[in-house]
Amino acid sequence: MLITVLAGGIGGSRFIRGLQRAVESAADPSTITVVGNTGDDIWIHGLRVCPDLDTVMYTLGGGISAERGWGREDETFTVRDELADYGVEPTWFGLGDRDIATHLIRTQSLNAGYTLTQVTEALCQRWQPGVTLLPMSDDRAETHVIVDDPAGATAADGTPLRRALHFQEWWIRYRAELPAHEFVLVGVDTATPARGVLDAISDADLVIFPPSNPVVSIGTILQVPGVADAVRSTSAPVVGVSPIVGGAPVRGMADACLRAIDVETSAAGVALHYGARARGGLLDAWIIDTADAASASEIEASGISCVIAATMMTDLDASADLARVCLDAGRGVSSSDRA
Ligand code: GDP
Ligand code: CA
Repeated sequence: MLITVLAGGIGGSRFIRGLQRAVESAADPSTITVVGNTGDDIWIHGLRVCPDLDTVMYTLGGGISAERGWGREDETFTVRDELADYGVEPTWFGLGDRDIATHLIRTQSLNAGYTLTQVTEALCQRWQPGVTLLPMSDDRAETHVIVDDPAGATAADGTPLRRALHFQEWWIRYRAELPAHEFVLVGVDTATPARGVLDAISDADLVIFPPSNPVVSIGTILQVPGVADAVRSTSAPVVGVSPIVGGAPVRGMADACLRAIDVETSAAGVALHYGARARGGLLDAWIIDTADAASASEIEASGISCVIAATMMTDLDASADLARVCLDAGRGVSSSDRA
């Protein structure tokens, strides 16, 4: 069985660990391909940093900080502190000393002409994540956020001037508290999916949207030309898990992202945003938390098959149980239900 997962960072990688556990104990062997979000990627002090790819790689490879959920275990931040003492911006990005080794290798290899796909594969030689980890694209497609000028600058008539911030600056430095007018994926128009991405979706037996941010993780991957069409037209069932539980994100500020694109922060809101494949959308089935059971009928009415389950990934067993629900939901979607 070929399973393809479109993933962001923490939510995506926790789910994939559970999926690995779930398929380990299944009767037929499975191969997992992860299409990772690179819209969060950023140059920091001359280093190319790919936060979501690294979160997946470290989590599946056993190197993630369990406490933080991102970056390396046993991390120190000496280089970051030294840079701050020099007064060099940015100081808000958590660049860890161990983590810097990854970014040094990536930057050097990219400068030598290797693609991000090749560099990611090389880094995974060490971490052995047990999945094929593909960046969504080798091209730069970076999420920027349009906000009112944080310093309060206005035009002559008093209207606030708008600024574009890199996603990381908006998310980390401003904790997504500056209202976002719009997200712009800079470069996406001319980006192409990385080699293997479209085939991984078209040839899959199951496509999963894990509980990743629907706007700046999965939404970004879906904007790469050809990816959404591949999801719409694959013969595999497409099953998603709601990252919104009880009307709020489980972790992070997905509500601030959803607000910017006028989508309600609810399990049903996100489902309807993706839409039913039978009606030109992306989903066959959507897993919602028991806390949101009341939304099931609205989701079903939109043409998406709705499954109610425990979706809090409190530990590996819980993640594996959630992954089994996805596998079952995929089996439950008969081909006649699909477009
Ligand atoms: P990021 O790139 O590190 O922000 O991670 P992702 O985009 O992969 O996932 C972030 C989303 O995962 C957030 O919107 C969270 O609400 C969601 N999330 C995190 N943990 C859980 C969980 O245990 N259960 C569910 N249902 N969603 C979760
Ligand atoms: Ca991310």
